[in-house]
Amino acid sequence: MNVFIATLGTETNTFCPFPTGYRTFGRIFHGDATKHTMDLFSAPLHVWRGRAEERGWGVAESICAFAPPSGITVRSVYEALRDELLSDLKKAMPVDIVLLSMHGAMVADGYDDCEGDLLTRVRAIIGPKAIIGGELDLHCHITETMITTADVLVTFKEYPHIDTIDRAEEVFTLCADAAEGKTRPVMATFDSRMVSMYRTPVEPMKGFVARMQSFEGKDGVLSVSMGHGFPWGDVAEVGARMMVVADGDKAKAAALAEKLGRELYDMRATTVTPYWTAAEAAAHADGAKASRPIVLADVADNAGGGAPSDSTFVLRALLDRKAKKALVGLIWDPIAFQIAEEAGEGATLELRIGGKCGPMSGDPVDMRVTVRKIARDVKQSFGDKGVKMEVGDAAWLQGEDGVDVVVNTHRTQLFHPDAYAPLGIDLGAYKTLVVKSTQHFYAGFAPIAADVLYVTTPGSIEPDFANIQYTKLARPYWPRVDDPFSLTNQ
Ligand SMILES: [Zn+2]
Repeated sequence: MNVFIATLGTETNTFCPFPTGYRTFGRIFHGDATKHTMDLFSAPLHVWRGRAEERGWGVAESICAFAPPSGITVRSVYEALRDELLSDLKKAMPVDIVLLSMHGAMVADGYDDCEGDLLTRVRAIIGPKAIIGGELDLHCHITETMITTADVLVTFKEYPHIDTIDRAEEVFTLCADAAEGKTRPVMATFDSRMVSMYRTPVEPMKGFVARMQSFEGKDGVLSVSMGHGFPWGDVAEVGARMMVVADGDKAKAAALAEKLGRELYDMRATTVTPYWTAAEAAAHADGAKASRPIVLADVADNAGGGAPSDSTFVLRALLDRKAKKALVGLIWDPIAFQIAEEAGEGATLELRIGGKCGPMSGDPVDMRVTVRKIARDVKQSFGDKGVKMEVGDAAWLQGEDGVDVVVNTHRTQLFHPDAYAPLGIDLGAYKTLVVKSTQHFYAGFAPIAADVLYVTTPGSIEPDFANIQYTKLARPYWPRVDDPFSLTNQ
């Protein structure tokens, strides 16, 4: 058997003002990602190479290109990366299995469904018999083109995405079985007509994930995924979809997808995250008598959803409240970092922080700060399996009024408390920790927190799902309407 592996993807926030070009992709690997440290979207390549080599199978590795979430991908950049992958595939032929690590919500100028486009072109090269498997982030748009061209698609089940490696193992097993003729995977989906975010560590989603898994490996059901959807993608097929892979029986796959999709729909009201305003959350956390910090998640400014990560709304609320022992980070502010670095550790200076990228970032905040520590080339963990993500250079700035900030140079969400370790910050000394992240922070921060509050502010990914300005979504959806199924009589 010969296996071809590659990564190409990003999560496109079509409402984000920054285009996704080569600079956003950062380091692109041309066939050697598995010789380097795993990150979230190269991890599947490590798994797939290892599993194939264990069996003595041939492995052809192509590009590994993943851009952190930002705006629409530049057309020439998408086409060049795609064509490099396809050219490598042609050279690698004959290939029995193609395994692709994708995101599922990549939009390029002229391509609303990049994954569908890529899978269609891969299928044209390898022919109808070879197996195509794909691993997707659960914040994906699952399209009809994708499920008709691939044999096996599996999304992460957990948000935070702590199961990337487990899902990569699953994709490999399902595709290897199919290539060896043990199974004949077929897929079906069901559109739950919902646009929202779903937190899987807590009920009712925790139980729903367990329920999805309870069907797998029995009665011809090979895999069950829930594509949560990515709300800030203006594409026709945005929204939550159930996806089932069954062995040879498409009707069975469709029936289970519908059954679970309707169950999800029926519990829609109970999956909603309660949000606090910045002022309410600042007052609650600052006034609390907890022995551990209270974490405020600044969800609308999550770089992981395409936001700038330099908004100041929560920082302003803490300063207005005259909060003590509060820490806000990561604020993406390379200019403030440069000035702080130049001043040096121990220096006290007036610094203008954040609020630089546009109206959704709020106003910049002028603070008198002491530079406590500068750290370079900082990394942070993603999950507990050795996956590391870039932070860039970072500065711990101690505010004279009780609110500290960490500014950094690589636009990213805050995934894990270990991002602060090179700065020597003792997180236990704070009452309030503001994290610019929607949910990925949870795995690392919940264990050290007395409580976690989700805060809504203006921002690029404001969780106001009823009012997102879609132009391509024609179907009614909840929460824009209360009961979209009753409207269409289905
Ligand atoms: Zn995601």
